Amino acid sequence: MSGHGIVIIGGGHGGSQAAATLRAEGYDGRVTLVSAEVEVPYQRPPLSKAFLKDPTHALLPLRPQSFYEKQNIDLRLLTEARAIDLAAGEVRLDDGSALPFDGLVLATGARPRIPPIAGASLDGVLPLRTAEDARRIRDRLHGATDVVVVGGGFIGLEIAGTARLLGKNVTVLEALDRLMARLVTPEISQHFLDLHRGWGSSIRLATPVGRILGDRGWATGVETAGGERIDADLVILGIGAVPNTGLAEAAGLAVDNGVVVDRTMAASDPRVFAIGDVANFEHWQLGRRIRLESVQNAVDQGRNAALALVGRPQPFHEVPWFWSDQGDVKLQMAGLAFDATRSVRRGRPEDGSFSVFHYAGERLVAVDSVNRAADHMLGRRLIAAGVSPPAEVVADLSADLKSLVPRTAAPSH
Ligand code: FAD
Repeated sequence: MSGHGIVIIGGGHGGSQAAATLRAEGYDGRVTLVSAEVEVPYQRPPLSKAFLKDPTHALLPLRPQSFYEKQNIDLRLLTEARAIDLAAGEVRLDDGSALPFDGLVLATGARPRIPPIAGASLDGVLPLRTAEDARRIRDRLHGATDVVVVGGGFIGLEIAGTARLLGKNVTVLEALDRLMARLVTPEISQHFLDLHRGWGSSIRLATPVGRILGDRGWATGVETAGGERIDADLVILGIGAVPNTGLAEAAGLAVDNGVVVDRTMAASDPRVFAIGDVANFEHWQLGRRIRLESVQNAVDQGRNAALALVGRPQPFHEVPWFWSDQGDVKLQMAGLAFDATRSVRRGRPEDGSFSVFHYAGERLVAVDSVNRAADHMLGRRLIAAGVSPPAEVVADLSADLKSLVPRTAAPSH
Protein backbone atom coordinates (compact mmCIF):
# COMPACT_ATOMS: atom_id res chain seq x y z
CA MET A 1 0.00 0.00 0.00
CA SER A 2 1.23 3.46 -0.87
CA GLY A 3 -0.37 5.40 1.99
CA HIS A 4 -3.24 6.89 0.02
CA GLY A 5 -5.76 5.09 2.14
CA ILE A 6 -9.19 3.74 1.39
CA VAL A 7 -12.05 5.56 -0.29
CA ILE A 8 -15.61 4.38 0.18
CA ILE A 9 -18.20 5.73 -2.25
CA GLY A 10 -21.69 5.72 -0.73
CA GLY A 11 -22.61 6.56 2.84
CA GLY A 12 -25.47 4.11 3.32
CA HIS A 13 -25.73 0.94 5.38
CA GLY A 14 -22.85 -0.81 3.62
CA GLY A 15 -20.46 2.13 3.30
CA SER A 16 -20.82 3.20 6.92
CA GLN A 17 -20.20 -0.38 8.10
CA ALA A 18 -17.15 -0.79 5.89
CA ALA A 19 -15.61 2.37 7.38
CA ALA A 20 -16.39 1.26 10.93
CA THR A 21 -14.98 -2.24 10.39
CA LEU A 22 -11.76 -0.89 8.87
CA ARG A 23 -11.12 1.01 12.09
CA ALA A 24 -12.32 -1.82 14.34
CA GLU A 25 -9.85 -4.12 12.57
CA GLY A 26 -6.99 -1.72 13.25
CA TYR A 27 -6.59 -0.07 9.86
CA ASP A 28 -4.80 3.22 10.57
CA GLY A 29 -4.52 4.71 7.09
CA ARG A 30 -6.81 7.38 5.67
CA VAL A 31 -10.48 6.41 5.38
CA THR A 32 -12.72 8.70 3.34
CA LEU A 33 -16.46 8.09 3.17
CA VAL A 34 -18.02 9.98 0.26
CA SER A 35 -21.78 10.48 0.46
CA ALA A 36 -24.02 12.28 -2.00
CA GLU A 37 -26.62 12.78 0.73
CA VAL A 38 -26.73 15.67 3.17
CA GLU A 39 -27.41 13.56 6.27
CA VAL A 40 -24.99 11.57 8.38
CA PRO A 41 -25.56 7.91 7.27
CA TYR A 42 -28.96 6.88 8.60
CA GLN A 43 -31.30 3.90 8.78
CA ARG A 44 -33.28 3.54 5.58
CA PRO A 45 -35.98 1.02 6.67
CA PRO A 46 -38.02 3.45 8.84
CA LEU A 47 -38.50 5.72 5.82
CA SER A 48 -41.41 3.62 4.56
CA LYS A 49 -42.73 2.91 8.05
CA ALA A 50 -42.51 4.98 11.27
CA PHE A 51 -40.94 8.01 9.58
CA LEU A 52 -43.84 8.34 7.12
CA LYS A 53 -46.52 7.79 9.70
CA ASP A 54 -45.33 10.24 12.31
CA PRO A 55 -44.43 13.78 11.17
CA THR A 56 -42.26 14.21 14.27
CA HIS A 57 -40.24 11.05 13.67
CA ALA A 58 -36.58 11.98 13.23
CA LEU A 59 -34.02 10.21 11.07
CA LEU A 60 -32.10 7.56 12.95
CA PRO A 61 -28.36 7.88 12.33
CA LEU A 62 -26.53 4.56 11.97
CA ARG A 63 -23.74 6.06 14.08
CA PRO A 64 -23.51 9.53 15.62
CA GLN A 65 -21.50 12.15 13.74
CA SER A 66 -19.01 12.08 16.62
CA PHE A 67 -18.24 8.43 15.76
CA TYR A 68 -16.73 9.42 12.42
CA GLU A 69 -14.75 12.22 14.08
CA LYS A 70 -13.44 10.00 16.87
CA GLN A 71 -12.54 7.22 14.43
CA ASN A 72 -10.79 9.67 12.13
CA ILE A 73 -13.11 8.79 9.25
CA ASP A 74 -13.27 11.67 6.79
CA LEU A 75 -17.02 11.83 6.14
CA ARG A 76 -17.67 13.98 3.08
CA LEU A 77 -21.38 14.72 2.97
CA LEU A 78 -23.14 16.28 -0.03
CA THR A 79 -20.25 15.10 -2.16
CA GLU A 80 -20.70 13.06 -5.29
CA ALA A 81 -18.07 10.85 -6.84
CA ARG A 82 -18.14 11.57 -10.56
CA ALA A 83 -15.54 9.16 -11.95
CA ILE A 84 -13.09 6.44 -11.02
CA ASP A 85 -9.73 6.50 -12.77
CA LEU A 86 -8.28 3.06 -12.24
CA ALA A 87 -5.04 3.81 -14.09
CA ALA A 88 -4.35 6.81 -11.87
CA GLY A 89 -5.84 5.09 -8.81
CA GLU A 90 -8.13 7.97 -7.91
CA VAL A 91 -11.73 9.01 -7.55
CA ARG A 92 -12.85 12.33 -9.00
CA LEU A 93 -15.33 14.33 -7.00
CA ASP A 94 -17.96 16.85 -8.05
CA ASP A 95 -15.91 19.77 -6.69
CA GLY A 96 -13.19 18.93 -9.22
CA SER A 97 -10.79 17.44 -6.67
CA ALA A 98 -9.41 13.89 -6.78
CA LEU A 99 -8.99 11.35 -4.00
CA PRO A 100 -6.16 8.88 -4.57
CA PHE A 101 -6.75 5.42 -3.15
CA ASP A 102 -5.00 2.17 -2.36
CA GLY A 103 -8.34 0.46 -1.91
CA LEU A 104 -11.82 1.48 -3.08
CA VAL A 105 -15.23 0.32 -1.88
CA LEU A 106 -18.27 0.86 -4.09
CA ALA A 107 -21.29 1.13 -1.81
CA THR A 108 -23.44 3.18 -4.12
CA GLY A 109 -26.67 1.26 -3.49
CA ALA A 110 -29.60 1.49 -5.86
CA ARG A 111 -32.11 4.05 -7.07
CA PRO A 112 -35.84 3.68 -7.64
CA ARG A 113 -36.87 2.33 -11.02
CA ILE A 114 -39.02 4.90 -12.78
CA PRO A 115 -41.54 3.39 -15.21
CA PRO A 116 -41.26 4.66 -18.78
CA ILE A 117 -44.85 5.89 -18.87
CA ALA A 118 -46.51 9.20 -19.55
CA GLY A 119 -47.00 11.34 -16.47
CA ALA A 120 -44.20 9.81 -14.37
CA SER A 121 -42.64 13.24 -13.85
CA LEU A 122 -45.84 15.03 -12.78
CA ASP A 123 -45.90 16.77 -9.43
CA GLY A 124 -47.29 14.37 -6.83
CA VAL A 125 -45.66 11.27 -8.36
CA LEU A 126 -42.98 10.22 -5.91
CA PRO A 127 -40.49 7.37 -5.53
CA LEU A 128 -38.90 6.51 -2.17
CA ARG A 129 -35.23 5.88 -1.52
CA THR A 130 -33.73 8.71 0.49
CA ALA A 131 -34.65 10.80 3.51
CA GLU A 132 -35.36 13.66 1.12
CA ASP A 133 -37.83 11.46 -0.81
CA ALA A 134 -39.45 10.38 2.45
CA ARG A 135 -39.89 13.96 3.65
CA ARG A 136 -41.50 14.86 0.34
CA ILE A 137 -43.92 11.92 0.58
CA ARG A 138 -44.67 12.62 4.25
CA ASP A 139 -45.47 16.26 3.50
CA ARG A 140 -48.00 15.17 0.89
CA LEU A 141 -49.32 12.01 2.50
CA HIS A 142 -50.88 13.56 5.57
CA GLY A 143 -53.02 15.92 3.48
CA ALA A 144 -53.82 13.42 0.73
CA THR A 145 -57.15 11.67 0.26
CA ASP A 146 -56.56 9.13 -2.51
CA VAL A 147 -53.22 7.39 -2.66
CA VAL A 148 -52.27 5.08 -5.51
CA VAL A 149 -49.22 2.89 -5.01
CA VAL A 150 -47.70 1.52 -8.20
CA GLY A 151 -46.04 -1.78 -7.32
CA GLY A 152 -46.92 -4.45 -4.76
CA GLY A 153 -43.41 -5.18 -3.50
CA PHE A 154 -42.08 -4.63 0.02
CA ILE A 155 -41.73 -0.86 -0.13
CA GLY A 156 -45.01 -0.26 -1.97
CA LEU A 157 -46.91 -2.42 0.51
CA GLU A 158 -45.24 -0.84 3.52
CA ILE A 159 -46.29 2.59 2.30
CA ALA A 160 -49.78 1.27 1.52
CA GLY A 161 -50.04 -0.12 5.07
CA THR A 162 -48.91 3.19 6.54
CA ALA A 163 -51.31 5.19 4.35
CA ARG A 164 -54.21 2.99 5.47
CA LEU A 165 -53.25 3.47 9.12
CA LEU A 166 -53.54 7.20 8.38
CA GLY A 167 -57.03 6.62 6.98
CA LYS A 168 -56.26 7.26 3.32
CA ASN A 169 -58.07 5.63 0.41
CA VAL A 170 -55.39 3.31 -0.89
CA THR A 171 -55.13 1.47 -4.20
CA VAL A 172 -52.17 -0.75 -5.02
CA LEU A 173 -51.58 -1.64 -8.66
CA GLU A 174 -49.42 -4.73 -9.15
CA ALA A 175 -48.53 -5.92 -12.66
CA LEU A 176 -47.94 -9.54 -11.62
CA ASP A 177 -50.57 -11.95 -10.34
CA ARG A 178 -49.34 -11.94 -6.76
CA LEU A 179 -47.72 -9.60 -4.22
CA MET A 180 -43.97 -9.48 -3.43
CA ALA A 181 -43.49 -12.15 -6.10
CA ARG A 182 -39.73 -11.67 -6.34
CA LEU A 183 -38.96 -12.70 -2.78
CA VAL A 184 -41.79 -14.60 -1.14
CA THR A 185 -43.66 -17.78 -1.94
CA PRO A 186 -47.32 -17.81 -3.04
CA GLU A 187 -48.63 -18.70 0.41
CA ILE A 188 -47.07 -15.59 1.96
CA SER A 189 -48.25 -13.45 -0.99
CA GLN A 190 -51.80 -14.65 -0.41
CA HIS A 191 -51.65 -14.00 3.32
CA PHE A 192 -50.56 -10.39 2.75
CA LEU A 193 -53.13 -9.92 0.01
CA ASP A 194 -55.83 -10.92 2.50
CA LEU A 195 -54.34 -8.67 5.18
CA HIS A 196 -54.15 -5.56 3.00
CA ARG A 197 -57.66 -6.13 1.67
CA GLY A 198 -58.85 -6.67 5.23
CA TRP A 199 -57.34 -3.32 6.21
CA GLY A 200 -59.41 -1.72 3.47
CA SER A 201 -56.91 -1.18 0.65
CA SER A 202 -57.91 -1.97 -2.90
CA ILE A 203 -55.25 -4.36 -4.18
CA ARG A 204 -55.35 -4.89 -7.92
CA LEU A 205 -53.27 -7.79 -9.18
CA ALA A 206 -52.31 -8.33 -12.84
CA THR A 207 -52.99 -4.64 -13.36
CA PRO A 208 -50.09 -2.81 -14.98
CA VAL A 209 -50.22 0.95 -14.94
CA GLY A 210 -50.73 2.60 -18.34
CA ARG A 211 -50.08 6.27 -17.60
CA ILE A 212 -50.39 8.85 -14.90
CA LEU A 213 -53.02 11.50 -15.44
CA GLY A 214 -52.45 15.13 -14.63
CA ASP A 215 -53.88 18.60 -14.67
CA ARG A 216 -51.62 21.64 -15.01
CA GLY A 217 -48.58 19.64 -13.99
CA TRP A 218 -50.21 17.89 -11.00
CA ALA A 219 -51.03 14.21 -10.80
CA THR A 220 -54.76 13.63 -10.58
CA GLY A 221 -55.00 9.91 -11.14
CA VAL A 222 -53.71 6.78 -12.76
CA GLU A 223 -54.94 5.00 -15.84
CA THR A 224 -54.34 1.26 -15.88
CA ALA A 225 -53.05 -0.46 -19.03
CA GLY A 226 -56.63 -1.73 -19.40
CA GLY A 227 -57.94 1.86 -19.55
CA GLU A 228 -59.53 2.09 -16.09
CA ARG A 229 -59.07 5.42 -14.29
CA ILE A 230 -58.41 5.75 -10.58
CA ASP A 231 -58.35 9.14 -8.82
CA ALA A 232 -55.22 10.03 -6.91
CA ASP A 233 -53.76 13.10 -5.28
CA LEU A 234 -50.58 11.19 -4.47
CA VAL A 235 -48.96 8.47 -6.60
CA ILE A 236 -46.13 6.45 -5.12
CA LEU A 237 -43.77 4.57 -7.43
CA GLY A 238 -42.65 1.31 -5.84
CA ILE A 239 -41.62 -0.87 -8.75
CA GLY A 240 -38.17 -1.83 -7.56
CA ALA A 241 -34.67 -0.47 -7.70
CA VAL A 242 -31.82 -0.29 -10.19
CA PRO A 243 -28.22 -0.68 -8.96
CA ASN A 244 -26.03 2.42 -9.22
CA THR A 245 -23.37 0.91 -11.47
CA GLY A 246 -22.63 3.96 -13.66
CA LEU A 247 -19.26 4.76 -12.06
CA ALA A 248 -18.09 1.15 -12.21
CA GLU A 249 -19.18 0.71 -15.80
CA ALA A 250 -17.47 3.91 -16.95
CA ALA A 251 -14.30 2.79 -15.16
CA GLY A 252 -14.31 -0.48 -17.11
CA LEU A 253 -15.14 -2.78 -14.20
CA ALA A 254 -17.19 -5.89 -14.92
CA VAL A 255 -20.90 -5.09 -14.47
CA ASP A 256 -23.86 -7.39 -14.95
CA ASN A 257 -26.96 -6.47 -12.95
CA GLY A 258 -24.62 -4.95 -10.36
CA VAL A 259 -20.87 -4.80 -10.01
CA VAL A 260 -19.57 -8.33 -10.47
CA VAL A 261 -17.55 -9.40 -7.41
CA ASP A 262 -15.88 -12.59 -6.23
CA ARG A 263 -16.60 -14.30 -2.92
CA THR A 264 -14.50 -11.80 -0.97
CA MET A 265 -16.43 -8.90 -2.58
CA ALA A 266 -13.49 -7.98 -4.86
CA ALA A 267 -14.46 -6.55 -8.25
CA SER A 268 -12.65 -7.24 -11.52
CA ASP A 269 -9.85 -4.90 -10.35
CA PRO A 270 -8.40 -6.38 -7.12
CA ARG A 271 -8.12 -2.93 -5.46
CA VAL A 272 -11.87 -2.39 -5.81
CA PHE A 273 -14.67 -3.96 -3.77
CA ALA A 274 -18.43 -3.67 -4.17
CA ILE A 275 -20.99 -4.31 -1.44
CA GLY A 276 -24.69 -4.18 -0.71
CA ASP A 277 -27.42 -3.37 -3.22
CA VAL A 278 -24.89 -2.66 -5.97
CA ALA A 279 -22.96 -5.94 -5.71
CA ASN A 280 -23.60 -9.00 -7.82
CA PHE A 281 -22.08 -11.98 -6.02
CA GLU A 282 -22.18 -15.74 -6.09
CA HIS A 283 -24.35 -16.90 -3.24
CA TRP A 284 -23.00 -19.88 -1.30
CA GLN A 285 -26.49 -21.30 -0.74
CA LEU A 286 -27.72 -20.99 -4.33
CA GLY A 287 -24.44 -21.62 -6.14
CA ARG A 288 -25.24 -18.81 -8.57
CA ARG A 289 -24.99 -15.06 -8.86
CA ILE A 290 -27.50 -12.77 -7.24
CA ARG A 291 -27.94 -9.20 -6.08
CA LEU A 292 -29.70 -8.72 -2.76
CA GLU A 293 -31.30 -5.59 -1.38
CA SER A 294 -31.34 -5.75 2.38
CA VAL A 295 -29.73 -4.09 5.36
CA GLN A 296 -28.16 -7.33 6.58
CA ASN A 297 -26.59 -8.03 3.19
CA ALA A 298 -25.11 -4.53 2.92
CA VAL A 299 -23.79 -4.55 6.48
CA ASP A 300 -22.28 -8.04 6.33
CA GLN A 301 -20.71 -7.41 2.93
CA GLY A 302 -19.31 -4.10 4.22
CA ARG A 303 -17.64 -6.06 6.98
CA ASN A 304 -16.32 -8.65 4.51
CA ALA A 305 -14.84 -6.05 2.14
CA ALA A 306 -13.15 -4.29 5.06
CA LEU A 307 -11.60 -7.58 6.21
CA ALA A 308 -10.23 -8.16 2.71
CA LEU A 309 -8.82 -4.63 2.67
CA VAL A 310 -6.91 -5.24 5.89
CA GLY A 311 -5.43 -8.40 4.41
CA ARG A 312 -7.84 -10.97 5.85
CA PRO A 313 -10.06 -11.89 2.88
CA GLN A 314 -12.65 -14.52 3.54
CA PRO A 315 -15.48 -15.92 1.45
CA PHE A 316 -18.81 -14.22 2.13
CA HIS A 317 -20.90 -16.85 3.81
CA GLU A 318 -23.85 -15.34 5.64
CA VAL A 319 -27.44 -16.55 5.78
CA PRO A 320 -29.44 -13.73 4.20
CA TRP A 321 -32.30 -12.30 6.20
CA PHE A 322 -34.88 -9.60 5.56
CA TRP A 323 -37.88 -8.09 7.19
CA SER A 324 -40.87 -6.04 6.18
CA ASP A 325 -43.36 -4.28 8.46
CA GLN A 326 -46.77 -3.87 6.88
CA GLY A 327 -49.57 -2.37 8.96
CA ASP A 328 -48.99 -3.98 12.33
CA VAL A 329 -47.64 -7.24 10.91
CA LYS A 330 -44.01 -8.27 10.78
CA LEU A 331 -42.78 -10.52 7.99
CA GLN A 332 -39.29 -11.95 8.47
CA MET A 333 -37.40 -14.09 6.00
CA ALA A 334 -34.29 -16.18 6.61
CA GLY A 335 -32.46 -17.85 3.73
CA LEU A 336 -33.60 -17.88 0.12
CA ALA A 337 -36.56 -19.92 -1.04
CA PHE A 338 -35.87 -19.68 -4.80
CA ASP A 339 -34.82 -23.34 -5.13
CA ALA A 340 -37.37 -24.76 -2.70
CA THR A 341 -39.22 -27.87 -3.80
CA ARG A 342 -41.57 -28.23 -0.83
CA SER A 343 -42.65 -26.37 2.26
CA VAL A 344 -44.02 -27.12 5.71
CA ARG A 345 -46.18 -24.80 7.78
CA ARG A 346 -45.70 -24.17 11.49
CA GLY A 347 -48.69 -22.45 13.08
CA ARG A 348 -51.88 -21.27 11.39
CA PRO A 349 -52.32 -18.19 9.16
CA GLU A 350 -55.77 -17.65 10.60
CA ASP A 351 -54.15 -17.11 14.02
CA GLY A 352 -52.06 -14.31 12.50
CA SER A 353 -48.80 -15.97 13.49
CA PHE A 354 -47.15 -18.72 11.45
CA SER A 355 -43.99 -19.71 9.63
CA VAL A 356 -43.30 -21.58 6.44
CA PHE A 357 -40.18 -23.74 6.33
CA HIS A 358 -38.90 -24.27 2.78
CA TYR A 359 -36.84 -27.26 1.68
CA ALA A 360 -34.85 -28.02 -1.45
CA GLY A 361 -35.18 -31.79 -1.37
CA GLU A 362 -34.38 -32.65 2.24
CA ARG A 363 -32.39 -29.50 2.93
CA LEU A 364 -33.85 -26.54 4.80
CA VAL A 365 -33.16 -23.44 2.67
CA ALA A 366 -35.48 -20.73 3.99
CA VAL A 367 -37.95 -19.85 6.72
CA ASP A 368 -40.61 -17.16 6.25
CA SER A 369 -42.23 -16.01 9.48
CA VAL A 370 -45.27 -13.86 10.08
CA ASN A 371 -45.32 -12.45 13.61
CA ARG A 372 -43.14 -15.33 14.81
CA ALA A 373 -39.78 -13.76 15.56
CA ALA A 374 -38.53 -16.79 17.46
CA ASP A 375 -38.96 -19.05 14.40
CA HIS A 376 -37.09 -16.49 12.32
CA MET A 377 -34.12 -16.43 14.67
CA LEU A 378 -34.15 -20.21 14.83
CA GLY A 379 -34.40 -20.48 11.04
CA ARG A 380 -31.26 -18.40 10.66
CA ARG A 381 -29.37 -20.64 13.05
CA LEU A 382 -30.66 -23.90 11.55
CA ILE A 383 -29.76 -22.84 7.99
CA ALA A 384 -26.32 -21.61 9.08
CA ALA A 385 -25.67 -24.90 10.87
CA GLY A 386 -26.97 -26.96 7.92
CA VAL A 387 -29.61 -28.60 10.14
CA SER A 388 -32.86 -29.62 8.40
CA PRO A 389 -35.56 -30.61 10.87
CA PRO A 390 -38.03 -33.25 9.65
CA ALA A 391 -41.40 -31.97 8.45
CA GLU A 392 -43.38 -33.58 11.26
CA VAL A 393 -41.20 -31.88 13.88
CA VAL A 394 -41.60 -28.46 12.22
CA ALA A 395 -45.37 -28.85 11.98
CA ASP A 396 -45.65 -29.80 15.66
CA LEU A 397 -45.95 -26.55 17.63
CA SER A 398 -45.06 -28.35 20.84
CA ALA A 399 -41.73 -29.55 19.41
CA ASP A 400 -38.68 -27.73 20.72
CA LEU A 401 -36.81 -26.81 17.53
CA LYS A 402 -34.18 -24.97 19.53
CA SER A 403 -32.75 -28.23 20.78
CA LEU A 404 -31.84 -29.11 17.17
CA VAL A 405 -29.36 -26.26 16.82
CA PRO A 406 -25.83 -27.41 17.65
CA ARG A 407 -24.33 -25.39 20.50
CA THR A 408 -21.44 -24.18 18.38
CA ALA A 409 -23.50 -23.57 15.25
CA ALA A 410 -20.83 -22.92 12.63
CA PRO A 411 -22.14 -22.10 9.16
CA SER A 412 -21.93 -25.02 6.79
CA HIS A 413 -22.59 -25.51 3.10
P1 FAD B 1 -27.68 2.55 0.38
O1 FAD B 1 -28.07 2.41 1.82
O2 FAD B 1 -28.74 2.91 -0.59
O3 FAD B 1 -26.53 3.64 0.28
C1 FAD B 1 -25.99 4.04 -0.94
C2 FAD B 1 -25.53 5.47 -0.80
O4 FAD B 1 -24.63 5.77 -1.86
C3 FAD B 1 -26.64 6.49 -0.92
O5 FAD B 1 -26.59 7.38 0.16
C4 FAD B 1 -26.36 7.19 -2.24
O6 FAD B 1 -26.76 8.54 -2.24
C5 FAD B 1 -24.86 7.08 -2.27
N1 FAD B 1 -24.26 7.25 -3.60
C6 FAD B 1 -24.60 6.66 -4.75
N2 FAD B 1 -23.81 7.07 -5.77
C7 FAD B 1 -22.94 7.94 -5.22
C8 FAD B 1 -21.87 8.72 -5.74
N3 FAD B 1 -21.53 8.67 -7.03
N4 FAD B 1 -21.19 9.55 -4.91
C9 FAD B 1 -21.51 9.61 -3.59
N5 FAD B 1 -22.50 8.90 -3.04
C10 FAD B 1 -23.21 8.07 -3.85
N6 FAD B 1 -34.03 -3.62 3.94
C11 FAD B 1 -34.32 -4.48 4.94
O7 FAD B 1 -33.55 -5.43 5.16
N7 FAD B 1 -35.45 -4.30 5.71
C12 FAD B 1 -36.32 -3.28 5.51
O8 FAD B 1 -37.32 -3.18 6.20
C13 FAD B 1 -36.02 -2.35 4.48
N8 FAD B 1 -36.82 -1.27 4.27
C14 FAD B 1 -36.49 -0.37 3.30
C15 FAD B 1 -37.29 0.77 3.14
C16 FAD B 1 -36.95 1.71 2.17
C17 FAD B 1 -37.82 2.91 2.00
C18 FAD B 1 -35.81 1.51 1.35
C19 FAD B 1 -35.46 2.54 0.28
C20 FAD B 1 -35.02 0.40 1.50
C21 FAD B 1 -35.35 -0.54 2.49
N9 FAD B 1 -34.55 -1.68 2.69
C22 FAD B 1 -34.85 -2.57 3.70
C23 FAD B 1 -33.39 -1.95 1.83
C24 FAD B 1 -32.13 -1.42 2.47
O9 FAD B 1 -32.32 -0.12 2.94
C25 FAD B 1 -31.02 -1.45 1.43
O10 FAD B 1 -30.85 -2.79 1.00
C26 FAD B 1 -29.72 -0.92 2.03
O11 FAD B 1 -29.86 0.46 2.34
C27 FAD B 1 -28.57 -1.13 1.07
O12 FAD B 1 -27.42 -0.53 1.57
P2 FAD B 1 -26.29 0.02 0.59
O13 FAD B 1 -25.21 0.53 1.47
O14 FAD B 1 -25.99 -0.98 -0.44
O15 FAD B 1 -27.00 1.23 -0.18
